[in-house]
Amino acid sequence: MNHFELRDGELFCEDTPLSRIAGSVGTPVYVYSSATLERHFQVLRSAFVEAGLKGEDGGPPLIAYAVKANPNLAVLATLARMGAGADTVSEGEIRRALAAGIPPGRIVFSGAGKREEEIRFALETGISEINVESEPELRLIARVALSLGRPARLAVRVNPDVAAGGHAKITTGGAGNKFGVSFSEAERLYAEAAADPWLQPVGLTCHIGSQISSLAPLEAAFRRMRELVERLRARGLPVLMLDLGGGLGVPYFNQPDPPSPADYAAMVARVTDGLGVGLAFEPGRVIAANAGVLLAQVLHIHERPEGRRFVVLDAAMNDLIRPAMYDAYHDIRPVRPRQGPSVIADVVGPVCETGDTFTRDRELPPLESGDLVAFMSAGAYGASMSSEYNSRLMAPEVLVRGRDWAIVRPRPTYEEMLAREARPPWLD
Ligand SMILES: *Cc1c(COP(=O)(O)O)cnc(C)c1O
Repeated sequence: MNHFELRDGELFCEDTPLSRIAGSVGTPVYVYSSATLERHFQVLRSAFVEAGLKGEDGGPPLIAYAVKANPNLAVLATLARMGAGADTVSEGEIRRALAAGIPPGRIVFSGAGKREEEIRFALETGISEINVESEPELRLIARVALSLGRPARLAVRVNPDVAAGGHAKITTGGAGNKFGVSFSEAERLYAEAAADPWLQPVGLTCHIGSQISSLAPLEAAFRRMRELVERLRARGLPVLMLDLGGGLGVPYFNQPDPPSPADYAAMVARVTDGLGVGLAFEPGRVIAANAGVLLAQVLHIHERPEGRRFVVLDAAMNDLIRPAMYDAYHDIRPVRPRQGPSVIADVVGPVCETGDTFTRDRELPPLESGDLVAFMSAGAYGASMSSEYNSRLMAPEVLVRGRDWAIVRPRPTYEEMLAREARPPWLD
């Protein structure tokens, strides 16, 4: 459920009409709903608690929100107040999580290529755990921990060799992917780490993909993780926690309904029953996607003689790349729907690439130039993947709370964009 709905013929975010935000901030602009972020977090946590799942400290499992889904500081601070942790993949994301008030003890550091300075920063900050993704990385962490005189708490990331996820570019758990190590390698690395005085292996982690629409691959992966916990323990190695990653899908309107948080939690409870490990999760999309929209304006509607109709927007692939990159589907809704028959059209942006097409042959409600439209479910992997391609300014971000709203990332000016670059002395 989300808090974007029609009231009196107009699309609102909570108690704020989207047209008011567009009128004041301009388009394109990302708009996020605090109530939806909070609700999604709460629904997940309740599902985990009701299924009897526990974290390492005996309380509810750690929900380490995947910062990359939507790293805006206001979004992170909203979730921090709910008790969220953070799953981070760079020093920049760790710094964001800290700046938003997420305690270091709730921050985990994942990612297939961590640099030495980043590992040092993570250890100095005292984050909860580093998820180790390869043998060279394990050695690097050991070296940094030794040089700092600070033992590193680790989870070994296993690649369960279970492919899942809505698109080849977002599946991460196949043996051919760069993420994590195989089961046998994990066992060896875990034992090696346990023997190193500067490494403290506390558990295992996996993350098999994103936008996963059925429980079966997740369950298969988690069962294999359980077997590995049992094998490690049989060798006398302690395993205190299992971080089961993210990946739960969201309904993008034309896709199969993803598993509910309650069914997901019940499955995890079944698979981990009696294992006695603390659990952690790294959800991103399921918290943020339906909590945000991208607002755009129709610049014009252009009909080709052969009959193709193009709705040209002021938003482009640099603002929302998911359709171009993942063939993703976003519902496109008029902010003030008009009466009249629907039309079939391609919806495109102004960027000089054929890939700058949000959808083709979509049946759309009637639209005219100047109309505002909302790309629904754009709160995750929207703004966070945006760029200035074609020297277009980054879309600003707005956070709504009831009737209140605030610009949480302003649109830069052209002067600011140009001032970030420098002329080498020989051109003067
Ligand atoms: C991207 C990512 C997540 C979050 O994935 P979602 O599909 O957004 O839930 C969690 N863990 C890791 C390691 C990731 O890379």
